[in-house]
Amino acid sequence: MNNKTKQQTDYITKWYQTFGIDHVFYDINNVNFEETKPEPFVAKFNTIDELKIAVSKIDCPLKNTAKNTVFSAGNKNASIMIIGEAPGADEDEQGLPFVGQSGQLLNNMLASVNLKRSDVYISNIVFWRPPGNRQPSNSEIALCLPFVEEHIMLVRPKILILLGGVAVKSLLRSTKSITSMRGRKISYNGIPTIPTFHPAYLLRYPSQKSTAFRDFILLKNTLNSQGA
Ligand code: URA
Repeated sequence: MNNKTKQQTDYITKWYQTFGIDHVFYDINNVNFEETKPEPFVAKFNTIDELKIAVSKIDCPLKNTAKNTVFSAGNKNASIMIIGEAPGADEDEQGLPFVGQSGQLLNNMLASVNLKRSDVYISNIVFWRPPGNRQPSNSEIALCLPFVEEHIMLVRPKILILLGGVAVKSLLRSTKSITSMRGRKISYNGIPTIPTFHPAYLLRYPSQKSTAFRDFILLKNTLNSQGA
């Protein structure tokens, strides 16, 4: 580990410790999400509100360019939790996830299986808009990820939906493509999890919408089989 990486790692470790988080397992400079095996999950926050306050204090460089922290939206008692990638311009403006074009498409996809926004709880892998809507870097993801994981375990949804490759690689520590991961149900910390395409990808490649629709059918069938 070079000096700069060590400095960054020490800094982040110290920072996490101020919130009582000791399960830091990321080499933030060049995170290989396949090799960083998660340790057994131990929750550090008691409530979502407590977590939200801690998130607002994360010293993430993305905050320097973002207007708002985008924490979550929707019904925290919902059976379904959706994790996207990062806020865009509309989300940054309003401080809410998936309110722009991607959000509109997400609403339509939910509606296609008779679900409403009030049936889901939504958040992202990072809590601030990356400048110019670029993908969040590994170090930005590494800063936010422990909080995202706490978030999921506090909500404890019956089903978790991961939208796009960034959510999949971060939470499942996988380097596999979203194309090879989507369309099946896997487990994230014991929670049935369905990876699918990100709506922004579907806006660029509309021919893939029918494939994504199959994933939403899987979501609906899983819900039905759980009696939810
Ligand atoms: N794309 C995302 O991944 N998240 C949002 O909140 C909006 C667009």
